[in-house]
Amino acid sequence: MAREPLDTSWFENFDDTAVGQLDADSTCFGFLREVVDSVTDHIAVIDRVGNICFTNRAWVVFAEHNDCAVTEQWHGINYLAACDTAAAAGDEFAAKAASGIRQVIGGAGHYYLEYPCHSPDEQRWFMMRVTTFDFHGTPYFVVSHQNITERKLAEEKMRALSRIDGLTGLPNRRRFDEFFREEWRRCRRLRQPVSLAMIDIDHFKRVNDTYGHQHGDDCLVSVGKAVAQFAHRPTDLCARYGGEEFALVFGNSRAEQLLGLIDELMGAVRRLRLSQGAPSSGPCITVSVGLATMYPDRQTGENELLTVADRHLLAAKTGGRDRLVWDGSAAPT
Ligand code: GH3
Ligand code: MG
Ligand code: MG
Repeated sequence: MAREPLDTSWFENFDDTAVGQLDADSTCFGFLREVVDSVTDHIAVIDRVGNICFTNRAWVVFAEHNDCAVTEQWHGINYLAACDTAAAAGDEFAAKAASGIRQVIGGAGHYYLEYPCHSPDEQRWFMMRVTTFDFHGTPYFVVSHQNITERKLAEEKMRALSRIDGLTGLPNRRRFDEFFREEWRRCRRLRQPVSLAMIDIDHFKRVNDTYGHQHGDDCLVSVGKAVAQFAHRPTDLCARYGGEEFALVFGNSRAEQLLGLIDELMGAVRRLRLSQGAPSSGPCITVSVGLATMYPDRQTGENELLTVADRHLLAAKTGGRDRLVWDGSAAPT
């Protein structure tokens, strides 16, 4: 790492009179040093070429506990060069940090970056802030790193919760939309087919009308569990699409390859032997399924696959329910 002579002239010119209440033994610098050392943020001050001329205790302690190449003498180390070295080794956040620091040195007021910094046994995130001040005509730049892990974990938890359906515990519509879009794009890049099965419980209103909504909810949970077993691979997703409808995305699969699986799925729902309720009270809960496949290309969006699968679902309903409708015409373009 590049080293420049340490510039400490600004310490010597420090104005002690600024803190009038200090007792005779204290210096203003000593007092401020204690203040800065009590701050949990890791703070370094660099000059306009990136050389570190000040660090607080948290900065040094963090380096000691994290196998940093530098553990004792930080003064004179070029922080920008250290970031550049890490960036050249593939650390994208180091590249962003270096660029942000250079922006502030170049005149931008401040810079802010959130980045992951996971240790082998702990997930951690930090926030880097860069601010500037002028001391006796010389600009300095304060680089501070604050641990924001608690907030990030809370955000991640909220994010995950906001993608789960509260009743069934399955991915919800928001998660479905995200996954479907991602899978569509992935399959477009790889020239692979995407299949979508829209599954709707037959005559579900009767269940509610006969046994009440609480029982209807229990049935939805049971059907959801049964249906979700059929999303096996990382490129599959089973979501509660809404109401008594479920959607199954199958990446890199064609409808013909899924016929057996859908047949089993319909059998699994039937085997739950959940009563459909009045007027007949006879048959068990069944589902209707619309299945479709497309090869994503630049001209088509995932919503077109959704439209076709929906059309097939409607055909399954009008055709008598408890059945699968699909067409196997999809072919790569
Ligand atoms: P079809 O065979 O044509 O699909 O008939 P259906 O009765 O299933 O369809 P319809 O659209 O008429 O009614 C859907 C019912 O699903 C009505 C609605 O109250 C019920 N439902 C939707 N979401 C929930 C839920 O979260 N809990 C309960 N208990 N019922 C729900
Ligand atoms: Mg419905
Ligand atoms: Mg229904």
